[in-house]
Amino acid sequence: MRVINSITVMRKLIEKVKKENKTIGFVPTMGYLHEGHLSLLRQAGIENDFLVLSIFVNPIQFGPSEDIYSYPRNFEGDKKLAQKEKVDCIFYPRQKDIYPKDYRTFVSVEELDSYLCGLYRPGHFKGAATVVAKLFNIVSPDTAYFGQKDIQQAVIIKKMAKDLNFPLKIKILPTIREKNGLALSSRNKYLSPKQKKDAGILYASLKKAENLIKSGEKDAGKIKGIMRGVINKKKTARLQYIEIVDMHGLKPVKKIKKKTIIAAACYFGRARLIDNLII
Ligand code: AMP
Repeated sequence: MRVINSITVMRKLIEKVKKENKTIGFVPTMGYLHEGHLSLLRQAGIENDFLVLSIFVNPIQFGPSEDIYSYPRNFEGDKKLAQKEKVDCIFYPRQKDIYPKDYRTFVSVEELDSYLCGLYRPGHFKGAATVVAKLFNIVSPDTAYFGQKDIQQAVIIKKMAKDLNFPLKIKILPTIREKNGLALSSRNKYLSPKQKKDAGILYASLKKAENLIKSGEKDAGKIKGIMRGVINKKKTARLQYIEIVDMHGLKPVKKIKKKTIIAAACYFGRARLIDNLII
């Protein structure tokens, strides 16, 4: 397994791999790998000849009051896990190479970033789309893999790739969870054992909504109200939003139709956790 910091060296390696007619699978991450990331790597490894993992804590997707400085990092641990998953190359660029001092270009996927988390994290998706576009240009993957856990990000990246004619496929893979339903996240590191236990309520509220829909409930307002009640039973939970949106445009709906996303964001202590189900 190679670890590459330099954009030029990365490009040279990709050129060589392409000459060998190998397909490239790509999993972009911010590191501190867990089973969610590993599930993406496994699938990408099965479907491709050459597997690239990128690790880059992207400063421009963090707001001024967000956790970039304390964002968990463990490069040595990540390297071991990547090796186990038969990653061929970790792209681990330096911040100053990705964003030199005179950096000026950003990718904004309009409208899709104005719902759900976009309302509470201004600039976040512009930051994420920009870095992913840059990584796509450097790594030139045939297929890139994203987790459903960050569904808005996945939908935005898919749209960006389509609109900007990136010659690649995007795959969105299921959310990996703890036994109590809590979606795995690097930010779960911030949770105390009690908060971690309580945080399972987020998934429980989504399952409650799913069951209501399965039994015929169509009124989004009513479903959201019931979910709110479920989450607010936990004193440690500080709910940020619950929303029901259409899968395509991410716009809130009043009535449940086909392909709907139920999504929620909630603080437990200092950890802001998100989760969703696609119905
Ligand atoms: P991150 O390092 O948090 O930026 O995540 C990198 C990729 O891993 C993104 O595509 C995430 O959606 C995905 N991911 C994060 N957590 C999970 C999870 N619990 N299950 C599946 N994929 C995940």
